[in-house]
Amino acid sequence: MKIAIYPGSFDPVTSGHLNIIQRAAKIFDKLIVCVMVNAGKNPMFTLEERVELIRKVTGDLPNVEVDSSSELLAEYARSKGSCVIVKGLRAGSDFENEFQMAMINHKINPDLDTMFLTAEHQYMYMSSSMVKELGSYDVDLSDFLPEQIIPDFKKRVSTIHQGGNRK
Ligand code: ADP
Repeated sequence: MKIAIYPGSFDPVTSGHLNIIQRAAKIFDKLIVCVMVNAGKNPMFTLEERVELIRKVTGDLPNVEVDSSSELLAEYARSKGSCVIVKGLRAGSDFENEFQMAMINHKINPDLDTMFLTAEHQYMYMSSSMVKELGSYDVDLSDFLPEQIIPDFKKRVSTIHQGGNRK
């Protein structure tokens, strides 16, 4: 069984991420979407919330599993019996960083390869941080976020604007 891992911050999962998930799920027998702990970022949603939001939008994909991990990605993949990491590659900006990560992961775990799916043109310039910026304005988010999670996103934005605590 070919198992692939799709790692990221997914804060929150965007339509661009979902497009990669749907395409990768068709290629592999099983796709594990893994929310990785990234100490350098100050997230809008907790790890558990991000996992739940991804579960909400992937409910119709039976071979997609959602998980989270604070392990080194190369070790996590090994523990799941996976030898493929899937990444989405957007215009220009992702290349240098992704290339470096792919090399490092392969060095740590030589059985592990990284496969890149190019972002579709409508998602090419989309990132979670861009969507979070837009959240502050009255913009239609349906091109950016999967419909099922727009209410969760708006609720969180308004909580933050009211100065309330994030969960
Ligand atoms: P970001 O915070 O930049 O949106 P993540 O760290 O959550 O992204 O990204 C996880 C993976 O998804 C990375 O491989 C990233 O390149 C990819 N990705 C992010 N946004 C898109 C998009 N709009 N289209 C395709 N791939 C994407």
